[in-house]
Amino acid sequence: MVDGVRIETYAIDEYVQTDLRYLDLLRNPDTPTLLALVGVQSHQFQRSLDLAAFAKTNGVRHCVIGGPHPMTCDTAELQNRGVSFALAEAEMVWLPILQDAIRGDLLQVYGRDQRWAGQLESPVLVPPSSRDLRRYVVPMLGIYPARGCPFTCNFCSVIKIAGRQIRSQSIETTMASLRAAKAAGIRMVMFTSDNFNKYSEARELMEQMIAERIQIPFFVQCDTQVAKQEDLVELLGKAGCFEMFVGVESFRRETLLAAHKAQNHPGTYGEIVRLCRKHGIVSHFSNIIGFPDDTAKGIREHLDVLRGMSPGVASFYILTPIPGTQQYDEFRSAGWITEPNLDRYDATTTTWRHPNIGSAELREMLFSCYRQFYSGAHMLKTAIQSIRHRQVGTGFLPYLGHPLFTRFAAWQKMHPMSGGVSRVHRDASPDYRELRRKVFGIDLAPLPKSLELSKADLELNRKAKIAI
Ligand code: SF4
Repeated sequence: MVDGVRIETYAIDEYVQTDLRYLDLLRNPDTPTLLALVGVQSHQFQRSLDLAAFAKTNGVRHCVIGGPHPMTCDTAELQNRGVSFALAEAEMVWLPILQDAIRGDLLQVYGRDQRWAGQLESPVLVPPSSRDLRRYVVPMLGIYPARGCPFTCNFCSVIKIAGRQIRSQSIETTMASLRAAKAAGIRMVMFTSDNFNKYSEARELMEQMIAERIQIPFFVQCDTQVAKQEDLVELLGKAGCFEMFVGVESFRRETLLAAHKAQNHPGTYGEIVRLCRKHGIVSHFSNIIGFPDDTAKGIREHLDVLRGMSPGVASFYILTPIPGTQQYDEFRSAGWITEPNLDRYDATTTTWRHPNIGSAELREMLFSCYRQFYSGAHMLKTAIQSIRHRQVGTGFLPYLGHPLFTRFAAWQKMHPMSGGVSRVHRDASPDYRELRRKVFGIDLAPLPKSLELSKADLELNRKAKIAI
């Protein structure tokens, strides 16, 4: 209930729908309806505009678009056309949006003056219904105990979306979300915090999970400084962590320094693999190919070093100047950006003119990295190790299912992290062109300017403590 009005929510994840029946919710609704497009990233922005245009022309009174793209990019050109934009964290703007929708009119923009809340007061999560969970191969829930990252990597959108000051919700909120997840039949949890090892209450949370025997296998993301935090890695293993994602990006210190990722020291990467193995966690190294100083030979050498180090899992991405980031601004002002279509800013396509590697070659190298890393020998080794160290309740999915799926996806030239076992074609961007023109006056969502931070957000960033 909000202001005495009962609100019914339908949460739709378009990635797991196999037909378009959910669009019926937006066709001449007989009750006042608000379409909220949430968590919209740059490569999803055009789709969000299309859905908003579809809803508006079919009688939905209120539409709002929020998430990384509108938070970090200038949407002024698309404003005052009957669709609102949320430029701040949901906790700060969601209630006013609902209240305005009940009263009858939304503002054009919410949260212009402050992107981030100083203190996080997030609610306990309500997991999806069992009917919705059936759409996923593994019922998994994202929980966000802490937000923000103190570092300054120039390609990173996290620091623009969540800021550099680490803010956390109460441990009790996270524990209550975990209990609700378990009761709802969630099989795995992903802690979506970007640097779980920088979250000051991580140890306390792990201890509570162990004491309460929560026993939901979970996935964390850590920065490379976790190499010096064996006590934390040990606790993570005991609490049920099955996989640790680490953004190693490159083995060349010069490349890392040029990307302002000075906190990464390639000499410590091997220690992360060792610690994870010792404590029963699969190490997952994330790699970026196509940094400005990369060459095809350099990427092949990177792959050789990576294979020698043998983390359990590796993922690869093509360097993409994500709108809103420092790198995007720099590439744009240098005139390097070549791709006008935001749909392609998904880290699987080249969007800018690389000085040493052609676009088709780089894309071929992306899938070749996957094929070569996930050799038969590597998959067998990971499977054997998992028999000894498997976390309770995971089954073999992270150890055998994930590598097999990754190999299958690379063979299909589909990025494994984009999800989905198979694809159905139900609609596409050209189907919405007329609506897009009518509502927004555009054929293609424009490449935006990045938004400046407000005074309040700069002030919060100023408090961030950094250790390199
Ligand atoms: S360490 Fe990760 S989250 Fe932090 S700024 Fe760098 S890429 Fe972003």
